[in-house]
Amino acid sequence: MSQAATDPRRVKLEENKLAKRLRRQVGQAIADYNMIEEGDKIMVCLSGGKDSYTMLDILLNLQASAPVHFELVAVNLDQKQPGFPEHVLPDYLSGRGIPFHILEQDTYSVVERVVPEGKTQCGLCSRLRRGALYSYAEAEGFTKIALGHHMDDIVETLFLNLFFGARLAAMPPKLRSNDARNVVIRPLAYTRESDIAHYAAIHEYPIIPCNLCGSQDNLQRVQVRRMMDEWERNHPGRTQQIFKALQNVAPSQLADTQLFDFANLSTQPAHAEAREQAVTWLNAKG
Ligand code: SF4
Repeated sequence: MSQAATDPRRVKLEENKLAKRLRRQVGQAIADYNMIEEGDKIMVCLSGGKDSYTMLDILLNLQASAPVHFELVAVNLDQKQPGFPEHVLPDYLSGRGIPFHILEQDTYSVVERVVPEGKTQCGLCSRLRRGALYSYAEAEGFTKIALGHHMDDIVETLFLNLFFGARLAAMPPKLRSNDARNVVIRPLAYTRESDIAHYAAIHEYPIIPCNLCGSQDNLQRVQVRRMMDEWERNHPGRTQQIFKALQNVAPSQLADTQLFDFANLSTQPAHAEAREQAVTWLNAKG
């Protein structure tokens, strides 16, 4: 290890730079997508993983200096997985004086019952979790639901949809649910997973692993992650480039007839318009 990497002052400086970068990126994402407005009551979904702890910390930090007033409540869903350490999140949150609620719903038994042995359970598990959290948010009058997905998650979803779903779609930074009852925000949309992992390690969050259920990751996801990891090693910055592309879409350069009116393209739109005006004028003259 180099001397610079162990020099405590240098280490502190790097940690401060990381914290500033994360705050800046989250602030920028919030501003770009108008994620938080005056009077919002935000449910911060806390799974106990590094991403959600980091999101909560940064939102609390921004709340202290934000020009608008908003409320933050950490909410965890206890899915009744065997071995789930129930005390970890309440201890952490009460210790820091953060308002929270633990929602209890045994989705674990449902998943165990419904998903055939050997198949990945994450799809159904996530859907049930989403359903429980969204219903609670609506019942309690939360105006926004904050999820801890970051840039790497968003790009990963893009490739999963592209390779295995024949769809050009990712995970948007802000979303209204299909039934229009909830607005979801992803304040970490501009942040990189490696930065979050580093930040979480510095803060020594009491991480609860998301594999207590023993479910294996599905192979498609593993494949996409491997591809992205390799890019990260051989072509640093590619994930950011792809994310930027999601913000810079050219519908006329794709092939979706629902997104762009290819049928009415003409060589001389100006002439066509002039002709139409002339016909209208002649008709009006009688
Ligand atoms: S790893 Fe287990 S708890 Fe986590 S999403 Fe998959 S099935 Fe659910």
